[in-house]
Amino acid sequence: MAKTLPPTTGRLATTGRLATSDGLRLARKPASPYASAMTQPPRQPDPAAPAPIGALASLPVFFKLAGKRALLAGGSDAAAWKAELLAAAGAQVDVYAATPGATMLALAARIRLHSRPWHAADFAGATLAIGEMQDDAQAQAFREAGRLHGVPVNIIDRPAFCDFQFGAIVERSPLVIGISTDGAAPVFGQAIRAQIEALLPQGFRAWAQAARDWRPGVQALDLAFRARRGFWERFAAAALARPEHPPGEADRLAFFDAAPQTQGSAVLVGAGPGDPELLTLKAVRALQSADVVLYDDLVSPRVVEMARREAARINVGKRGYKPSCTQEDISALIVALAHEGKRVVRLKGGDPMIFGRANEEIAALRTAGIPVEIVPGVTSAGAAAAALQSSLTERDVARRVQFITAHGRDGHLPRDLDWAALADPRATSVVYMGVKTLAELSARLIAQGLPGDTPACMVERASWADERVVRSTIAQLPGVLAALQPHGPCLILIGLALATNS
Ligand code: SAH
Repeated sequence: MAKTLPPTTGRLATTGRLATSDGLRLARKPASPYASAMTQPPRQPDPAAPAPIGALASLPVFFKLAGKRALLAGGSDAAAWKAELLAAAGAQVDVYAATPGATMLALAARIRLHSRPWHAADFAGATLAIGEMQDDAQAQAFREAGRLHGVPVNIIDRPAFCDFQFGAIVERSPLVIGISTDGAAPVFGQAIRAQIEALLPQGFRAWAQAARDWRPGVQALDLAFRARRGFWERFAAAALARPEHPPGEADRLAFFDAAPQTQGSAVLVGAGPGDPELLTLKAVRALQSADVVLYDDLVSPRVVEMARREAARINVGKRGYKPSCTQEDISALIVALAHEGKRVVRLKGGDPMIFGRANEEIAALRTAGIPVEIVPGVTSAGAAAAALQSSLTERDVARRVQFITAHGRDGHLPRDLDWAALADPRATSVVYMGVKTLAELSARLIAQGLPGDTPACMVERASWADERVVRSTIAQLPGVLAALQPHGPCLILIGLALATNS
């Protein structure tokens, strides 16, 4: 092999890809060049073999239990949970318990309950045995019986007596994830399970089932390795990109087609007010399956960081009065990228449908025939209310919430503001992009009859680590802000509701 490999980077790149996609090849690979090193001309270095795997506390394996017999000694709730797991995995579960608890009794239809203690002879023909015993001598005897019959044993919460342990489980069967801390910290394991549970789309169950259904057919076609692998690579890419789309026959046929998919897609994703913890799970998933991410200046770099490592990132910020991308440029760019077949994530600060000019982008995409999806986000008004710890809808004080912008097309107060509605102290008004025109807004509101002592607050960079909150009145807030000179994004909130919890 070394003789036939020309030292071009192209070939090396190919070799590298093969090496990572085929463990066996990789394991064999170094042997050949080294064995013949004395007689061969020098060659370019081969891609390095991966470092050997570190020591494992235990080996994760996935046991097939369908139709097999499992033995369980114990009748408590903990034992019942194990019985349920074994039954869920298709085992015939023989439970030995002199006094089974209510939970175990409730499982009676799915297990075989023997109302007596276990005997060593019960191990005959079992695949697995699980016992619940506090007493060391009993645990030892159970384990010995297992050894004698060649049956691996688990004793609940007694790792020292166990041949195997149960992991915390994330179930999207046939996709199953087991998490083990080797008994060191089950609660930690469960916390990790909860994180994976939250992030792993439910739709993966349907994809894994489709893979199981399609596998025999794909095998039967006797395709060349590369074609078969291409099918499953396209399958995996589609599952990751559109987890909630149930895979169907059209998808199966498309995965046989090696031509790159020309149809891209776009998703407008609410990036929230700044704190990445305020992203939705859907937003995180969209970011992790993006080919390219377009983002505004308002979007936190920590949110952009959550995109798939390979995703291209493009800042299309058009904030303030600096030179900026026009909305038309941005819409055209999203369309062009999607036309190249890319999955485009358009990250917008807060919620995309609140003062985000989303409709223009949606219209451009629809006109171009590109599928578009919207993932809502936490709007900055929500984060500002959280910062103030004031409900915007305080009963008896507020009769409505209204979101307005104080920044018209020309940079001044919009001409069509509804002054009667805004001058109502029992309305909670949230003013986006309102700092520059605040003095004018305040004067107009007071002239329209809003009492000068109506509470008015400013929240700068809501949800960021350097968030700032100012509580004042509508008469005084402009002067306070002139002195403070906030430089981050700010919301102004006005109304009697804001007096609560201040
Ligand atoms: N779609 C966004 C709003 C975009 S308009 C949302 O739902 O929040 C931009 C304006 O939003 C800014 O000028 C500012 O008024 C407000 N804004 C955005 N993020 C903010 C934050 N973290 N704190 C305070 N105001 C914010």
